[in-house]
Amino acid sequence: MDIDDKGYIVTHDSIKGKCLVATKHFKTDDLILEEEPFVSCQFSWNSLYGYRACNHCLCPLETVTENVIRLTNAAILEVPFEEYCTVKDKIQNFVQCESCKVWYCSARCLETAYNRYHQLLCRPDSNDSLHHLEELWRTMHYPPESHNIMLLCRLLATIELSPSPHTANQIVSNFCHRTENENEKLVHKMLGEKFAEQIEQLRFGVLKSMTIRESSQWLTPSGFKSLLALIGTNGQGVGTSVFQQWSNNCKKNLPPDQIELFEQFVDNAYDAMEQVVGIDFLDNEGSALFQEHSSINHSCFPNAASVFNGDHVLRLIAIRPIEPGDEINTSYIAPCELIHSRHTRQKYLQENYVFTCQCIKCKEQINDPEVTSDDDSEMEDN
Ligand SMILES: [Zn+2]
Ligand SMILES: [Zn+2]
Ligand SMILES: [Zn+2]
Repeated sequence: MDIDDKGYIVTHDSIKGKCLVATKHFKTDDLILEEEPFVSCQFSWNSLYGYRACNHCLCPLETVTENVIRLTNAAILEVPFEEYCTVKDKIQNFVQCESCKVWYCSARCLETAYNRYHQLLCRPDSNDSLHHLEELWRTMHYPPESHNIMLLCRLLATIELSPSPHTANQIVSNFCHRTENENEKLVHKMLGEKFAEQIEQLRFGVLKSMTIRESSQWLTPSGFKSLLALIGTNGQGVGTSVFQQWSNNCKKNLPPDQIELFEQFVDNAYDAMEQVVGIDFLDNEGSALFQEHSSINHSCFPNAASVFNGDHVLRLIAIRPIEPGDEINTSYIAPCELIHSRHTRQKYLQENYVFTCQCIKCKEQINDPEVTSDDDSEMEDN
């Protein structure tokens, strides 16, 4: 085997565009690739609600006890087996931006963020137009969030500060491959009925808050629309939860006689959290754009899945055996939603990602009736 062989290549298909294809065998649970994002950002409501995360890599900055106290509104004040929470050992490394006071997990994250985008986005004045832009975004986009305008601002700042803005613009162009008409549909879906007016409000908000020199092609009405469509479709959700990390460590390391106590505590904690914040709002979430990962197409019968392990680094894992020559696919539909009918899945993918799925499962079910069952209507409303 070629020693440069990464185990996969990016190919081009006339219908699907880019495809990730395996060049070697992967067994279930094998790591296919690991990738740092081109840009990432925590969701706006999450940070407003006090989810403390590193402003660069999104890793949690609160201990499991602090997390549980906050998410249960102090109904639970103590967490057993706290030694399995790894955040405590890292607290001494936490640093703040001296000017705007945002937190980072380490001097390394602060430095990386500052050099890549933060020096253009550091705004100590709470009355700054960039903060107004974020507020405007929140009025247009209520939780559960799936996108954040600040991801777009970081993307622009990354181009502005790049040693080669031409290359950076090229990378962003590679992400944006849709037609004007497709972008229009996606932004409509993202912002709702008043989308045309809101796009312009957001575009002026960005122009007012940032000095744009190298990235001006993205600030024209159509360039801006394609960026919004980009963060809507390629923005990969990143979930990092200290509770989840602690819980995984406990499961791995606790002696068998302690497991029952642990499980009881977890059940109680989830019940208490559900009453305070709702079960869908436990991670300190954000979204990110990944270059290699963006060439992976959807399948309703995927052979790979994206996972995160405490920060914004994406790991692509095989969930079934993959052979050389197989296309590597993930599902853009949540795993629990894949049981829905072909009709419902196709409608969802068309509305949210503007394509018609041609995966094996959809081909197999091609003669299924074109109907929406009661079970399916909830997914179609999303
Ligand atoms: Zn960090
Ligand atoms: Zn700052
Ligand atoms: Zn399909």
